[in-house]
Amino acid sequence: MAQKDGTPQSVPPSPGSAHKGNLHTVMQAQLEKAARAMNLSSDVYTILAQPKTELIVNFPVRMDSGKYVLFKGYRVQHNNILGPYKGGIRYHEDVTLDELKGLAAAMTWKCALHDIPFGGGKGGIKFSPRLHSRAELERITRRYTHALGDNIGPELDIPAPDVGTNAQTMVWIMDTYMNLRGTGEKNAVRRVVTGKSITAGGSYGREAATGQGLVHCVTEWAQGRNFNLNGCSFAVQGFGNVGSHAAKILSRMGATLVATGDYKGYIANPEGMNPYKLSEHVTQHGSVEGYRGARPIGRDDFFGVECDLMIPAALELEIGEKEARAIKAKAVIEGANGPCTTEADQVLGDRGIDVLPDILVNSGGVAVSYYEWLQNKRSERWDLEEVDGRLEKRMKRTYAMVRETAAQRKIDYRTAAYIIGLERLQTAYAERGIFP
Ligand code: NAD
Repeated sequence: MAQKDGTPQSVPPSPGSAHKGNLHTVMQAQLEKAARAMNLSSDVYTILAQPKTELIVNFPVRMDSGKYVLFKGYRVQHNNILGPYKGGIRYHEDVTLDELKGLAAAMTWKCALHDIPFGGGKGGIKFSPRLHSRAELERITRRYTHALGDNIGPELDIPAPDVGTNAQTMVWIMDTYMNLRGTGEKNAVRRVVTGKSITAGGSYGREAATGQGLVHCVTEWAQGRNFNLNGCSFAVQGFGNVGSHAAKILSRMGATLVATGDYKGYIANPEGMNPYKLSEHVTQHGSVEGYRGARPIGRDDFFGVECDLMIPAALELEIGEKEARAIKAKAVIEGANGPCTTEADQVLGDRGIDVLPDILVNSGGVAVSYYEWLQNKRSERWDLEEVDGRLEKRMKRTYAMVRETAAQRKIDYRTAAYIIGLERLQTAYAERGIFP
């Protein structure tokens, strides 16, 4: 729906959400729990409890009507001791600084866990992209990039897609950044963003990488539990990049999608839905709503649906205590960042439902982003087989480390994943010291 005159239109009513806490606070509680469990140095804890930089930019953009609207953009840089800041750009009407602080920290833990030489960052603009024309989206993106100026860069801070952004958004950021550089430098700065289109220098396998990485974790979990994925059922909240790719890959393995939903509503079919046909429907209509191969259900019914795997792949803090009590699945696979509140985590643990944590499960995106960045740096192009092979090896290796740490220390997978990442960060600070 294009906004014609620059006057903010109302966002379509959402099908409801969990009582939303503060993601930054939830992430801090997770950090604190892991820090206690591993005896993290209090100096390192103090540094990691807050981001290094919090940037806010207000910038005017001309709407199609000729009117100007002022937008508020953010970039949070959490930590860069292991490498340049890395993290997505979110376009959503609910973007807040605290949300981005939580998401930027999650990127630090994720890269450290996977031994990817990047730090953590996250950015975004508070607006609803669905209410703007393509031309307006391009101008908003270019103006935001200009406002960020030298605060991003291929060796400083490298954005990628997140909720509400995609490969096209990244290409606009890349092109704007390149054009602000001297002619001789232009092509060397292509890797200022990842998640680009293939033509612009993106990597094969990047678009599906987060969903693919998620499925590698599910496969490992199933093997450990002696559980057959072929014939099992799953539900996915959010049918965007992460949710739709995970659903397609799982269905190719013989699993059945029985319920899904997005910002407009939820649908179910106990006989199963075809994720490819559903994807076509979403491309045409912008939502899963109205899909003929399923019936509409409420949000509460969605979380209480009979299924083996529950995959949140929408926004953070969607699973609160109420949802955690309703879930009937054997495992919650965190495709989204921070989908469970602290209380929900506790309830799921008490009920014996496995939780595969976000920093492990959804890291396929940043892993392949790293491969894209490397390919750009070396002026190389890797084929899909090579990218997928590297991703599978990395995901399975990290999963095994998390499983072993959890077993050795008798702790949950989330705390185990944090500890592996935090140990790497602590070692880096111990070796380098804290300047001056
Ligand atoms: P996307 O924009 O492609 O899809 C988001 C989906 O969530 C859409 O289907 C949208 O309709 C739905 N949604 C939005 N608001 C909702 C609401 N209130 N209730 C129910 N559904 C709602 O975004 P994405 O890239 O798939 O990201 C999804 C999650 O995965 C986010 O938490 C993101 O941070 C995380 N993630 C994404 C990547 C990536 O590579 N894209 C990598 C790691 C983590």
